[in-house]
Amino acid sequence: MRFHKSESAFIVFIAVILAAGVVILHAYDVLQDSPRVLAGDEDVAGHFNYLSHLLFATGVLIATALFFGVFFIYPLIRTQAKEEGKLRAMTKSLSDRSVTLEQAALTDALTGMQNRRYFDEALKEYLEEFSRIDKPVGLMIFDLDHFKQVNDTHGHDVGDEALRVVAGCLKDMTRYHDVVARLGGEEFAVVAPNMDMEKLTRLAERIRKGIANMPILSGNVRIRITSSVGLAVWDHRESAEDFFRRADQQLYQAKKQGRNRVSA
Ligand code: GH3
Ligand code: MG
Ligand code: MG
Repeated sequence: MRFHKSESAFIVFIAVILAAGVVILHAYDVLQDSPRVLAGDEDVAGHFNYLSHLLFATGVLIATALFFGVFFIYPLIRTQAKEEGKLRAMTKSLSDRSVTLEQAALTDALTGMQNRRYFDEALKEYLEEFSRIDKPVGLMIFDLDHFKQVNDTHGHDVGDEALRVVAGCLKDMTRYHDVVARLGGEEFAVVAPNMDMEKLTRLAERIRKGIANMPILSGNVRIRITSSVGLAVWDHRESAEDFFRRADQQLYQAKKQGRNRVSA
């Protein structure tokens, strides 16, 4: 068994105090003997000399314990308290950092939106929840039209600004509990719980028009951008992948039919 420095110090401290206690008890015994020594013809001077030695030894032991406590144990306790404080601060900053990292892993850096990884998880969870109740779940996939051309004509920075504007538009026009994510590139998706096809189409149209009417400003460039949207409402049986695939097929239809439109 290995002792920590402060434990060893504490053991020594207790041992010294115990020794002082033993010496005091012994001195007490010797003192009890004094009447007999005084009455008899024993060595009285020797008796009291021994007693004073015992008291001196007690004083030395107590002084040693005090010295040890003040100059050794107390500083050790202080150091340990400080180290513990530092350790606690470090653990806290580490756990804060891991929360930040976790968030970063689920957030799209350019738009601050949730990313694909978050979206996939959230979609599964929503379907799981909604499998227990008889309420619809809507899904919209947005893809910006001719976005490559925007980049090629106006530069990547204008493209980035367009993505941020569209992200803002999507966030502003959806509800608090909708899952809004950037799936990657110029593709976005919204999971809209409790929306049947009629409501979902109305919302998608509103967002599509909102995006089309939103001017994108970057430096002295001012452009407009359109989007195509694919919709699907969950049939309460299909997997998240099949559900997503259905909405994606509708997006493909919207592109094929000429873009800047909603297909359901
Ligand atoms: P479509 O109407 O058929 O969707 O045509 P599109 O040009 O939008 O589609 P395509 O898939 O050909 O091009 C997508 C472009 O999106 C290509 C890529 O340069 C651009 N892009 C992807 N991610 C980013 C990004 O983070 N920033 C910028 N500025 N552009 C991006
Ligand atoms: Mg695309
Ligand atoms: Mg596109």
